[in-house]
Amino acid sequence: METILKLDQIHKNYGKKEVLKGVSLDVQKGEIISVLGPSGCGKSTLLNIIAGILPINSGHVLLNGVEVTSPNKIVPIEKRDLNMVFQDFALWPHMTARENILYGLKLRKATRQEQEENLQKMVDLLHLNGLMDQYPAELSGGQQQRVAIARALIMSPSIILLDEPLCNLDVQLRIEMRTEMAQIFRELKTTVFHVTHDPSEAFAMADQIVVMNDGKIDQIATPEACYRRPATAVVAGLLGAGNHISGSAGKSDGEYTEARIAGTQVRALNFASGSSLSLYFRAEDAAYSDTERPNSIPVQVVMPTFEGGIYRMKAKTQDSEEVTFLHTSNLNKGQKGYLSIEPDQLYAYDRTGA
Ligand code: ADP
Ligand code: MG
Repeated sequence: METILKLDQIHKNYGKKEVLKGVSLDVQKGEIISVLGPSGCGKSTLLNIIAGILPINSGHVLLNGVEVTSPNKIVPIEKRDLNMVFQDFALWPHMTARENILYGLKLRKATRQEQEENLQKMVDLLHLNGLMDQYPAELSGGQQQRVAIARALIMSPSIILLDEPLCNLDVQLRIEMRTEMAQIFRELKTTVFHVTHDPSEAFAMADQIVVMNDGKIDQIATPEACYRRPATAVVAGLLGAGNHISGSAGKSDGEYTEARIAGTQVRALNFASGSSLSLYFRAEDAAYSDTERPNSIPVQVVMPTFEGGIYRMKAKTQDSEEVTFLHTSNLNKGQKGYLSIEPDQLYAYDRTGA
């Protein structure tokens, strides 16, 4: 394994506000890393630090083993072996697609033949045939995005940085582009550092997901591992576990805990260490039945909503905590039953702010 990028204990303040609180991370050659986190958690700040656009308060950034940023040193972006694709694409409006894509190679004084060969490769790879003489304003959002990626890829940088690259595209195009981009990066074995607030984008693209929350890393794992074993309550919430109910910790074998909640006791994956805990689960992982089943929680239906094909049920526990589950047929308001959830789909975390 060859480490392309190393972040070592990055701290960053804007004035008195600490925005990055000790971020450490290694990116290996050929890896696609997606940093996933809610808006405002510090993703763009981190990306701009890697790019050499922002200074840091403490820590180190190493690119190919060489320190490029420390509190008293910043190697400028143009001297770093990286390229960045911005959220708004940042194409030069007065240049054609061809001029935009070739800009960096010309600066590097590549021969005409080299330029043409590489351009043709990008045109083929990114399906840009017939668009090279257009100006950015004459291209669709998806085409501008492709040109921006071609402009970065043609330089064959050690690493490509992508800041929410798809958020300016409509939903359908976003879904197509994320798969296509990941395919191209894998084919070229490009090392990619991608940041997004959209879990499905991170899932579709990443080899490793780095979940960021309020300036620190909560979890680094494969998309599957993040989804199945979210390390913190924040990760669980971000990855779709919208239900949480409070309880107290019972016997634990380390991996699982017996959690006591109002009306019953259930077995849950244990990420807690204290005595009071919150149980998190996804609406789609809870199965309703009229009778008590293994690992189930008594609930009462509060509000059914028909969503076409499926009903989304709002219900409450015996502690009057609100939960949501899905059901294929309608249930009456006030109906009492049980939600059973597999222990592996029920996550126990220490209760905070309770
Ligand atoms: P993200 O990209 O995850 O949405 P940012 O890195 O843009 O988050 O911002 C992280 C936090 O830092 C936010 O609270 C934001 O308001 C703040 N912030 C960003 N840029 C500046 C700046 N230039 N000056 C002061 N605060 C900033
Ligand atoms: Mg941002």
